[in-house]
Amino acid sequence: MLPSQLSEQEIKERATGLLRRFFGYSSFRPLQLDIITDVVKGHDLTVLMPTGGGKSICYQIPALLGSGFTIVVSPLLSLMKDQTEALLACGIPAASVNSMQSDEVNNDILRKLSTGKIKVLYISPERLLLELDRWSRDLPVDLIAIDEAHCISQWGHDFRPVYTQLSRIKEVFPDVPVMALTATADRLTRDDISAQLRLSNHKSYIGSFDRPNLSLKVLVNPGKTQKLNIISALIEKYRFGAGVVYCMSRKGAESMNKELTERGYKSAVYHAGLSADERNTTQELFANDRIQVVCATIAFGMGIDKSNIRWVVHNNLPKNIESYYQEIGRAGRDGAKAETVMFYSYSDVITLQSFIDAGAQKSINAEKLERIKAYAESNVCRRRVLLSYFNEILPHDCGNCDVCTNPPVRFDGKIVAQKALSAVVRTDQKVGITMLIDILRGMSGSELVSKGFHLIKTYGVGREMSFGQWNHYISQLIQLGMLEIAYEDHNHLRVTPYGMQVLKGEIEVSLAKYVQPDTASGRRTKKSRYEETRKLSSDDLLRINLVKAREDLAKKEGIAPYLVVNDLVLESIVRLKPCDMESFAAIEGIGERRVIRYWKKFVGEVRKSLGLSGGGLSAGATVKETRWLLEKGFSPAEIADIKGVKINTIYNHIAELIDDDMYSDFSRIITRRDYLRVMDEYEKNPDTATEKLKEEMQYGIIKIALAVSRYLIRH
Ligand code: ADP
Ligand code: ZN
Repeated sequence: MLPSQLSEQEIKERATGLLRRFFGYSSFRPLQLDIITDVVKGHDLTVLMPTGGGKSICYQIPALLGSGFTIVVSPLLSLMKDQTEALLACGIPAASVNSMQSDEVNNDILRKLSTGKIKVLYISPERLLLELDRWSRDLPVDLIAIDEAHCISQWGHDFRPVYTQLSRIKEVFPDVPVMALTATADRLTRDDISAQLRLSNHKSYIGSFDRPNLSLKVLVNPGKTQKLNIISALIEKYRFGAGVVYCMSRKGAESMNKELTERGYKSAVYHAGLSADERNTTQELFANDRIQVVCATIAFGMGIDKSNIRWVVHNNLPKNIESYYQEIGRAGRDGAKAETVMFYSYSDVITLQSFIDAGAQKSINAEKLERIKAYAESNVCRRRVLLSYFNEILPHDCGNCDVCTNPPVRFDGKIVAQKALSAVVRTDQKVGITMLIDILRGMSGSELVSKGFHLIKTYGVGREMSFGQWNHYISQLIQLGMLEIAYEDHNHLRVTPYGMQVLKGEIEVSLAKYVQPDTASGRRTKKSRYEETRKLSSDDLLRINLVKAREDLAKKEGIAPYLVVNDLVLESIVRLKPCDMESFAAIEGIGERRVIRYWKKFVGEVRKSLGLSGGGLSAGATVKETRWLLEKGFSPAEIADIKGVKINTIYNHIAELIDDDMYSDFSRIITRRDYLRVMDEYEKNPDTATEKLKEEMQYGIIKIALAVSRYLIRH
């Protein structure tokens, strides 16, 4: 049962307490708390938030508030495993029932459901449907969350027929609230979800799709080396993180992987042409930070919750904004800074256009391609373009896209435009971009000469500009609608009527100035790398040691490093340099379980880096830790266990705290009977009391009784 009898205020307070305790976050993100309150109050909900927006918390906190358990329907095995591990790492009892486990294990979990020992159960839709027939209706189900709920809709991009049967949930558990969650913004899909699930009277929450920590960048027509240099620079910049290069084809992914491997980077491929085993291996290596890059087709990503993907590169233009946004959304899920770069070239447009021509739903897909092209070619803040696609208005420029940080400088481009347009006319509109540039630059390739293009009047009128420069300007002429690509006629260029007006000098042309691509950062020699390691700052060194410590802990626990602590937390440790347990515990994103398990290792590294006594702690600091643990509700015996010391030591700490007026909840530590017994003995004979009492109780308890009596005299 969810505590629906509580007032909204009470629900909010409890929810915030649980968020802090288990996840270590001090506040909710927008909408989360309203969603939680509503669901506790018994409403059915649909929740729409971008990937990384924080959907999981919306059902995990209610799960903790309820007395029974929460079911999470999830379509992907690997995701289930990942999320179960993530919850366990926070100290939340979670389990999953899936086909990778033996029947024995699964049945054991299912048996435990009525005992209250499991709070969150991840299950596939198929299995849930099966169980619905078997389960007793008084199983304590608090809430049913349906993740990736767009799979229920035929309009969506991931339709799974089995999802449509989930409407049976409401037949079996009519009073249990259902929460459907998705990152798919598509309107049709959204409406379909609630209809298919038979959610009558449901509420709908739509979060902002903005992901401000993702930087956005698009490079028009980059060369192959330039692409590789940019990717290399990203790999080196984020040595402790990982990245994904999305490619249009398997072949593209394979060859990118080869290039990166040859440059000495740890890279792997992922596409539908590989065996399930091969794909699993890649995912596993990636999750555990064993490889730095995955060169993938779009098949990669649904099943990864890895929060420390620091960059995503699109080697080709994606087919629409939805897929693009979902793919870049896999970066920076921990909220730390992440970079995204898209390489955009006309040959991609041509390929995608041919896919569309050969497939179904031509007009919709063509329109979607137009929209992503417009995004790639945008001269205004890209985030504004992106969000407006999802019907969201960003009222200001974002400052974190390439247009914002590097606004184009404009110049009068009339002459440049006329040179290009005139050359197209003079070749009878029978050339593509490359040939046009060759003509303008006066090159003498054999095809050019054999077709007689070296004889036309505009041959060589653009010698002063590089290939890249011309490419940049001709792209703009296409974007501006002065030239168009005739996809049906060998992708030759054509001058549009608007372009003809430019040729005649009737229209002014303003072009964005070409900027020499900065690839220097990507071209590092061995020597400069060496010099760089010598220049590591003390923070860099600390970061390296923390990453190492995180790896060790991950290995010990058999989980992925980002589940120990994520990159954002790691950065906070570097910045805040916590020197004791208390300040470690105060860091955003570290819940209680993580404090207890990891503080020693991380604080030890920080102290070492500051030259403080060999990672050891001052007496005062360890007393403070005891107080922190007491405040969290741990008993002295548990604290002794956590810290690996004798219980008497903890009693000593507590006595000290009482003497310093820092602790006064005595009844938790000592019984009234013991206290009176100690007082009694000391009144009789203070000289022999201790010896005598030691036969009856722990020495530490005696010290506590004495501290309490001093406290009572003082107050
Ligand atoms: P989604 O399921 O929507 O893709 P997640 O639930 O995985 O997103 O959340 C993305 C990241 O944001 C996770 O690292 C999560 O811990 C973090 N997060 C969620 N809620 C909060 C919050 N209130 N404060 C800080 N971080 C949060
Ligand atoms: Zn911007």
